[in-house]
Amino acid sequence: MIEKVYILKAGYCTHPEIITIKGGSFCNCEFPAIFVLIKHKNLGYILFDTGYSKEFFEASEEFPLSLYPKITPVFFKQEESAIAQLNNLGIQAEEIKYIIISHFHGDHISGLSSFSEAKYIYLEKAYNSVKYLQGFRALKAGFLPKLIPIDFVLRSIQLKETNLQSISTEYKPFEIGIDLFEDQSIIIVELPGHAKGQIGVFLKTQEQGLIFLIADASWSSKAFEELKMPHPITNILFDSSQEYKQTLFKIHQLFQNKPNIFILPSHCNQAFKRFQKER
Ligand SMILES: [Zn+2]
Repeated sequence: MIEKVYILKAGYCTHPEIITIKGGSFCNCEFPAIFVLIKHKNLGYILFDTGYSKEFFEASEEFPLSLYPKITPVFFKQEESAIAQLNNLGIQAEEIKYIIISHFHGDHISGLSSFSEAKYIYLEKAYNSVKYLQGFRALKAGFLPKLIPIDFVLRSIQLKETNLQSISTEYKPFEIGIDLFEDQSIIIVELPGHAKGQIGVFLKTQEQGLIFLIADASWSSKAFEELKMPHPITNILFDSSQEYKQTLFKIHQLFQNKPNIFILPSHCNQAFKRFQKER
């Protein structure tokens, strides 16, 4: 069972809103890099992604990866790092037992090396799609190879597509997933389109209800609520815009079927604020 979920953010980037949603404004908006701390009753602390960290800047020093923070300017202070915020909550790095990685974009994995005891959980094909990328190909995939710790694979629990099984009908239209710890507390589902092998997570909590972390399957609550696609320019960044559309539609259906689920996109300031208020 999950005792508590903390929604936190480690830095943010800015870009024009219109890129993220059809009909959005041209002004530069802030997109927080949200990460999530999960306190599991029996297993202790688990992270979902990490947000930015100082390692992001070191990993993007050399050309052409140096273009990454130029395309999406990043704002980050050391006290905002995942590890600093956890320390503030009285949690030490070694207490983080698992880190679920939604996908391998730099703004989701920058803090991986801060947690030397953690096991990394992700879909095998997500890592396979980026692990040999360098230079411009890495840049296009939003991947900074230096963010991957040297013992990464050794500490990994790689989920395979064959692990996907039927899940409870309460998650419809999501029908297959992985019951991560076989206690129904964390259900992993694939959210294809934005990045290869991207995953989302259903969290069943005692007091905060059902929470669905959808990573970058939608950049804002508004986009899945009103079923609005991002600007076509994002097609060059996406793994598959067709699959993105299908995934967004499924989230939209879930939102309509079950209005009590809290659906959290990783870069939505409104959802971040609403969670702190409501849950
Ligand atoms: Zn992403």
